[in-house]
Amino acid sequence: MVNIDQINFENKRVVIRVDFNVPLDDNFNITDDTRMRAALPTINKVLNDNGMVVLMSHLGRPKKNPDPKYSIKPIIKHLEELLGRPVQFATDCMKAADQVAALKPGEVLVLENLRFYAEEEGKPRGVEKGEEGYDDAKKAVKASQKDFTKILAGYGEYYINDAFGTAHRAHASTALIADYFDANHKMYGYLMGKEVAAVNKVMNEIQHPFTAIMGGSKVSTKIEIIENLLTKVDNLILCGGMTYTFKKALGGKIGNSICEDDKLDLALDILAKAKEKGVNLVLAIDCVVGDKFGNDANTQVVDPMNIPEGWEGMDIGPKTRELFANVIKGSKTILWNGPCGVFEFDTFAQGSKAIAEAIAAATKEGGAFSLIGGGDSVACINKFGLADQVSYVSTGGGALLEAIEGKELPGIAAIKK
Ligand code: AMP
Repeated sequence: MVNIDQINFENKRVVIRVDFNVPLDDNFNITDDTRMRAALPTINKVLNDNGMVVLMSHLGRPKKNPDPKYSIKPIIKHLEELLGRPVQFATDCMKAADQVAALKPGEVLVLENLRFYAEEEGKPRGVEKGEEGYDDAKKAVKASQKDFTKILAGYGEYYINDAFGTAHRAHASTALIADYFDANHKMYGYLMGKEVAAVNKVMNEIQHPFTAIMGGSKVSTKIEIIENLLTKVDNLILCGGMTYTFKKALGGKIGNSICEDDKLDLALDILAKAKEKGVNLVLAIDCVVGDKFGNDANTQVVDPMNIPEGWEGMDIGPKTRELFANVIKGSKTILWNGPCGVFEFDTFAQGSKAIAEAIAAATKEGGAFSLIGGGDSVACINKFGLADQVSYVSTGGGALLEAIEGKELPGIAAIKK
């Protein structure tokens, strides 16, 4: 495997998998271009070397070809602004060979949405798993996926994967394509490289004490992560909605708080495992409850083991803020996934804000490495304006979570092969 900085791409065609799956409004205006900006260093590296760039991405979940609602064309103008040069567009990702061949050094071509073809994901269309004909349809799409992948690979002498957000998918453009390039002709882009390095720091090159803060709404969506983290962390702070499943399992009264009744045994099992492994599992000792699920709810601070009827646990209380902040501030490696309250309502955002501030302080003053990511955590740290005061904010939601579960991501494995 080579490093992108080792290569001079002069006069070379480079096919780059980017994540341009940006949100668009009803008029096809980009509402958040973070993902496009994140890919710029890699694209500019190839262009500054006088190479030729072929960009490929998916956008949304199209079900047919073409599917104008999911065309990549509307983003071309903005990409031209970001790159400060014209950008060409291929209206069919399978019929771009002539345009690719005509590219001159410093030119950029963007392919239409890869997912217009079922072969990108390798999943049959129009027939669901379990339905008659599914197995045959799957075989057929898998067979034609080889040709699809080969055509994409033929667009470049080099392949760069800079789409961390889809690295957990074994799709044609994210994983299978890498087989067509030898170890000297495939590599991570800068964004992918940074993400992989950040994950490594919290999964493999851990500086202790290591504290993970897992929040969010449900324990069921985080089981595998929690189990993997129990083998690595010194402190595990479990917060957010899942708090109340634990408190109920421990015999608490939780009022109207969110709870997964079928996960009470699992919660007890997690507590036992933490004890067995010597992990300091930290739960809230007080909480802010509301009399309804809204920003204008009446509030009070109570014991999470004894929440009054009609009230719902929505955030951690002041004693817990202090407890969590102290654990965080004593850490050298920090991972945060999931808010500790309904942070979307300002009334219940104080706990998540305190966590964000403690992480920023541990990073700045304590020299800790801090990684924030997955789902709402990014929106949360952005809300408090602290994203630039932590070590790394991941761009990959599902991909980051699977990496923390300890899974090898196909998009990463394919480059390393
Ligand atoms: P997740 O996608 O599982 O990370 O969950 C994130 C969501 O959990 C956010 O939208 C929060 O509003 C929500 N959340 C956090 N704490 C609570 C709580 N105590 N009750 C209900 N929802 C919560």
